[in-house]
Amino acid sequence: MPISTSCGKRNPYICLMNFQRKRLLLINPANTYRKGYLLRRESKQAPMGLGIVASLTPPDWSVKILDENFKEFRYREADLVGITAVTASVNRAYEIAAIFREKGIPVVLGGIHGSSLPDEALRYVDSVVIGEAEGSWGRVLDDFNNGTLQKTYISGLSDLKNAAAPRHDLFHPGYLFASIQTSRGCPMDCEFCSVPAFNGHQYRLRDPQSVVDEIASVPHSMLYFVDDNIIGYNKTAEDHAAAIFEGMIRRNLKKEWFAQASLNIVEKPELLKLARRSGCRMLLIGIEAENADALRDSNKKVNLRLGVDNYKKAFRMIHREGINVLGAFIFGMDSDTPEALRKRTKYILSSSVDVTQASVMTPLPGTRLFEKFKKEGRLLCQDFPKDWQHFHFSDVVFNPVRMTPKELAESTNEAYNRICDMNTLRMKFIRTLWNTRSLRSAVWAWNSNLNYRSVGLERPTEWNYKNLDSVGK
Ligand code: SF4
Repeated sequence: MPISTSCGKRNPYICLMNFQRKRLLLINPANTYRKGYLLRRESKQAPMGLGIVASLTPPDWSVKILDENFKEFRYREADLVGITAVTASVNRAYEIAAIFREKGIPVVLGGIHGSSLPDEALRYVDSVVIGEAEGSWGRVLDDFNNGTLQKTYISGLSDLKNAAAPRHDLFHPGYLFASIQTSRGCPMDCEFCSVPAFNGHQYRLRDPQSVVDEIASVPHSMLYFVDDNIIGYNKTAEDHAAAIFEGMIRRNLKKEWFAQASLNIVEKPELLKLARRSGCRMLLIGIEAENADALRDSNKKVNLRLGVDNYKKAFRMIHREGINVLGAFIFGMDSDTPEALRKRTKYILSSSVDVTQASVMTPLPGTRLFEKFKKEGRLLCQDFPKDWQHFHFSDVVFNPVRMTPKELAESTNEAYNRICDMNTLRMKFIRTLWNTRSLRSAVWAWNSNLNYRSVGLERPTEWNYKNLDSVGK
């Protein structure tokens, strides 16, 4: 007769196995101050880092992911807690960490913020993984088992050739897109970007075959390649992207996807064709600005080399393949004035960019920009870690050079109102349909514009409109 057990299982052997397994709880905190990205299902992105940590964890652990992208955190029992955080969500990460530490459960923080500011993080968590998890997660678990958890674990850049795919099965089933990573690192050096500091300047590549296997294994029909640049900056990286696209075509995977790429993709028409044939619907391109001075401010070398006058031609080449252009723009570079930002908004509205991501310049810790602003005394926030919640690319957190913080906030707000106006978005939809001759791409662009509309218009503005009143030049 089976033994009835407290966990409800009737099979005593299964129950014994579960009883003996240690419990690892992985948590993805959300910025509770600004939830724009979480308002629509289409803009939520799975916490890939936690999925990788889960796949690096041996089977004598049971692993769960609590994901605030879908549900507010509620306490669960665990033996060890791992939290990931970017700068905007780190304050929430610290709040959650306190709940576990009060009960004597150790908390390990990973991710880009803790890697940039480990001394701050160690005031709120027991241990910090600095750098990529692959190099240290095994040591973290060994030390936990031996009762010798260290304060910091420093990883080098891992070789991705045989990297494990994340545990997609542990992500919340509500994600519309499967997140797939094919490479890490970037040889460029944009002043505002934390990728080179966190993932290094060297472009590291996964085995294309295992990437295609991973794509085939996920049930999602839509993918987001999370790479900072899916095509890279050299022939090896280009061949790598081509091998993945060809693999998807050969296996007839019928997935639709979008990815980030640099503007130099237009110099590779064959690759662009392969991208389209493998299901590419949208490319996020870092346009940043429509004038060379602003590009020089942020050291955006690729765009400078291709020249702002060639943007139009570049967009046309992408459209010809039935792919829409998600243009990322920055407001608040050193040469920007309110007038320059009005021009940028006008350019966004009149250009053939299909989807607009307009971000306020944000000096993330770990970047050269952060160090520069700190040295020059230009950071407006002082109350850390609480103020990190404003580092989400819509609030003004620094003193610009050629306007007041309030002028930057007002210019950005005006831009959001114009870019996100429903009539503008309807007009953009028709234009995308005309330019790409692809209904699917136009629908993708339409949905993405609605995502950015939620982010842009439904954001809290009290920081910009109360705090900045008193900050002048
Ligand atoms: S913004 Fe893009 S191109 Fe520039 S350093 Fe970051 S990842 Fe590289």
